[in-house]
Amino acid sequence: MDVSRRGFLKLSGLSIAAFATGLGFDPAVAEAKGYALKLEGTKKIPGLCHFCAGGCGTLSYVKEGKLVHLEGDPDHPTNEGALCPKGASLLSVAYSPNRLTKPKRRAPGSDKWEDISWEEALDRVAKKTKEVRDASWKAADEVVDAKTGLKKMLTVNRAEGIAFLGSAEVDNEESYLFTKFCRLIGTPYHEHQARV
Ligand code: SF4
Repeated sequence: MDVSRRGFLKLSGLSIAAFATGLGFDPAVAEAKGYALKLEGTKKIPGLCHFCAGGCGTLSYVKEGKLVHLEGDPDHPTNEGALCPKGASLLSVAYSPNRLTKPKRRAPGSDKWEDISWEEALDRVAKKTKEVRDASWKAADEVVDAKTGLKKMLTVNRAEGIAFLGSAEVDNEESYLFTKFCRLIGTPYHEHQARV
């Protein structure tokens, strides 16, 4: 008998289930018990995956201040309990040893990143923003007058060298502040990474 790889896996699963049932052992019950045991003593916190604009609902289970389990919220209308690989990786992201917790800088010509303080990072960003804003500032632009058809200069006051890209990690309040910031520095170019 020729058995495909998929067919072999199905047959193996059925054999194991039949064997377990024959021993009076129901895998579904064992799984449910294991699940309940795993979540014992945890606090369930509903939330949202922040990776994209889908806004899938999550359930986080926290024990002694640590996130111990995370899954899709079955009652959420968007995802009905499912999570894509990004959403399903949230638990790993929270405790990954590779997660960046400090700002880093790679100096010109260097081949490595170095930790810098938040003060230094903020100072550098502010200084660079001012430099680029000054260098790319456009006070007036030439337009064609709709009535006369003649060219004329119009005051625009915009920083053409700066663009601002938002993120799905940004909430409503932060988006509001970012928009204010863009208006303040004079860039008309602000966009969102995850809008639908
Ligand atoms: S990244 Fe995936 S899980 Fe997260 S909101 Fe988007 S679709 Fe949902």
